[in-house]
Amino acid sequence: MKCTQCGTENAEHASFCGKCGREMEVAPTPQAAPAQPVQHTRPAKLVRCADDKSIGGVCAGVARYFGLDVGLVRLLAILGLIFGTATFWIYIVLWAVLDEVECGPY
Ligand SMILES: [Zn+2]
Repeated sequence: MKCTQCGTENAEHASFCGKCGREMEVAPTPQAAPAQPVQHTRPAKLVRCADDKSIGGVCAGVARYFGLDVGLVRLLAILGLIFGTATFWIYIVLWAVLDEVECGPY
């Protein structure tokens, strides 16, 4: 690298110029881009998950769509099945209507 003061060519990683003693300007190292927070890929529409299902993948799809915990959705679904038949029919309708897709890890 060249000295900015006297123009003498110095070793590539020299800290000071060998002739005039001027501190060499070190090329700025590019700052590493700040790590992006990991975000769940949220599907644009409600789907069934082909690769993450305990029954029909509806719970996993609903959880992804609303950004909820899959376990929580399944728990609510099970509670709904215990305390009423509406959940069962909602599940059946969703299972019949929704497309089954590969959702990937959540
Ligand atoms: Zn110099």
